Amino acid sequence: MAVDTAYQPPSPGSDDVDAISEDDRPGPSKRKSKTVRSREHGADESGRQAWEGMYKRSWDVVQEDAEGGLQAAVDSLIARGRRKRALVSETPLRRSIIRHLFIILDLSESVRDKDFRPTRFDLLLTYLRTYIVEWFDQNPLGQVGVVLIRDRLAETLVPMGGNPQDILAALSDKRKLEPSGEASLQNGLLMAKGGMAHLPSSSSLETLTLFSSISTSDPDGSYSIHQLLNDLVQARVRSSIISLSGEIKICRQIAERTGGKFGVAMDEDHLRELMWESIPPPAQTVAASTMGVRSALAAGGSKGAVGKGKPPPAGDLMIMGFPTRLPTGGETMCVCHGLLKKGGYMCPRCGSKLCDVPTDCEVCGLMVVSSPHLARSFWFLFPVANYDTLPYDVGMQEFGSLSPTCSGCDVDFPTVDELGLNMGVAAQADGVSPTGRYRCAKCKSDFCGDCDLYIHDTLHTCPGCSQ
Ligand SMILES: [Zn+2]
Ligand SMILES: [Zn+2]
Ligand SMILES: [Zn+2]
Ligand SMILES: [Zn+2]
Repeated sequence: MAVDTAYQPPSPGSDDVDAISEDDRPGPSKRKSKTVRSREHGADESGRQAWEGMYKRSWDVVQEDAEGGLQAAVDSLIARGRRKRALVSETPLRRSIIRHLFIILDLSESVRDKDFRPTRFDLLLTYLRTYIVEWFDQNPLGQVGVVLIRDRLAETLVPMGGNPQDILAALSDKRKLEPSGEASLQNGLLMAKGGMAHLPSSSSLETLTLFSSISTSDPDGSYSIHQLLNDLVQARVRSSIISLSGEIKICRQIAERTGGKFGVAMDEDHLRELMWESIPPPAQTVAASTMGVRSALAAGGSKGAVGKGKPPPAGDLMIMGFPTRLPTGGETMCVCHGLLKKGGYMCPRCGSKLCDVPTDCEVCGLMVVSSPHLARSFWFLFPVANYDTLPYDVGMQEFGSLSPTCSGCDVDFPTVDELGLNMGVAAQADGVSPTGRYRCAKCKSDFCGDCDLYIHDTLHTCPGCSQ
């Protein structure tokens, strides 16, 4: 809703530009990069090479339980991973709820590689279909478009829109998605940037590139990918890139300078993890400006209090309309497709018929959303607070008064005897509860680890508090 005033991608340093041109030349580099120099320095101090320092005896960490089995250790590893996902950051953040994302899909010959099973191509399409559903679930006011890059060209598969069904339909038509040629990252990003040029600065503009090639074949013109990078920084397009091949310098530079993320997928699960990381709305800034407004309200609404800190960002308010649902009786013409269709929604300002919400009205430009969509986007503004763990000794003292089963799914909590057996194995580290109980601070209900994850990941509301 607000312009991201504090979002400042790192400014282009003159030194940086030199580094690009030097390192991008073919042939062996004539000078040592900074990282290499610092690593050598580190090797001098410890007397070992950096790669030796990273080597850890990971199997020493695993402890056997009383009977020599590893089941408890495996369980605790799983619990730790689950807890890591369930824990949400509680720092006040300003998040963009109106997001515009272009997915740039690399369809060069390299996606036929079989290092990801069954092939990179099939895996990407399978993941993208679930990704789209999940993305719209968590960003109901967002819009997504898809750009393909192949044969050194970019083409828009699906223009920016708020309807997941359109995108899913396009992604399931494999005949249109035949991989061929080489990929041009520059053309893909340029097309995505062009597709977002008309959008207001109040929304968050993003691209997610799924890059399978090991290099980019860009046009040999006066406009280079480095100039495009500067333009992306200026247009505030967050560009995240996930590489399936390896670390590519230009990809990392684009991601870092535009405030996006760069990742190299190591296997199928890691690829999924990297993709899913981009689903929650990006944090814009620590809510310093919100704090400013709050303190001003506390001071009786005088402007002086705000003036001391940062001024509140412009565009805090934006116009939205809630449409009327039309009866499914007769067919009428819609403005978005120009087709005769039954049902639909009516724009509250100009009275035109729209097929789906959320969307921008084709006629008057009003943002038309349904109230459940708006309510869902509040998940991230008012998240469920993290549940507390119940320490072992407290659990022992209160054991008689504790509920024997989980308040969410009714599964039995471990008994005193079972807890005693696992002691020492189920470490308290990483926020894992040694008693297997996770307690809501507000309603004092105990939940199991599975429910903890489900509530914070999917449900976004505490069942105990809402009873
Ligand atoms: Zn339509
Ligand atoms: Zn309208
Ligand atoms: Zn449960
Ligand atoms: Zn609760």
